[in-house]
Amino acid sequence: MPAQPAATSWLAARWQSVLTTIRAAEREAGRDPGSVSLVAVSKGVAPQSIETLLVAGHRVFAENRVQEMQAKWPTLLASYPAAELRFVGRLQSNKAADVARLAHVIESVDRESVARALARSIEIRNRSVRLLVQVNVGEEPQKGGCPPADADRFIAWCREDLGLAVSGVMGIPPRDADPVPYFGLLRALRDRRGLAELSMGMSADYEAAIHLGATHVRVGTAVFGPRSGTKGM
Ligand SMILES: *Cc1c(COP(=O)(O)O)cnc(C)c1O
Repeated sequence: MPAQPAATSWLAARWQSVLTTIRAAEREAGRDPGSVSLVAVSKGVAPQSIETLLVAGHRVFAENRVQEMQAKWPTLLASYPAAELRFVGRLQSNKAADVARLAHVIESVDRESVARALARSIEIRNRSVRLLVQVNVGEEPQKGGCPPADADRFIAWCREDLGLAVSGVMGIPPRDADPVPYFGLLRALRDRRGLAELSMGMSADYEAAIHLGATHVRVGTAVFGPRSGTKGM
């Protein structure tokens, strides 16, 4: 493989600096060191750059497009079996089994058809794929996620009726709004349902999310730099 020392050190330095910020926010919030996981969102990022972070020791990544995940990750996972791959994009029922075949965690379960399709997939039953329910905290029509008012019922239904291992909740506050009330809503839901994982906070607001209890922050731009073109959410 061609060596790219400049790009490699640039990327590793950005990654280290995000980790340092996360550890500082944990301290300020009085949380245990290491209680927050950095999920490096690698959508639009070339496999060589992902590999740079894998070599540096990073393990947890996320993608938001099924095809892109299928193109990039089988090879990376074969070389780095300890990596954890999370899917954070819009899920279609007819792609649910494909996603479950590759991802270790699916963060965007948001409606009954998708939950049923996941429950039917062998991978969910035979492998330990963890699921998070995505909540559309700002009730924005263009975003995925179940309506906040339906979230308690939906989570209980997934667990009790379908027997799915829902281990947490995920959400994305509206752009340009104060994220704090939305983070608070997600946290209260997670606490009420007694779940382990609280996935919230992105490049612009992950420190605030850590103060409000996030266990996983999903950070793309701050780690990898600006994406060329907007790949959406
Ligand atoms: C792209 C994306 C992120 C990361 O966004 P940044 O602002 O680049 O940190 C987080 N979560 C989801 C669901 C995404 O699609």
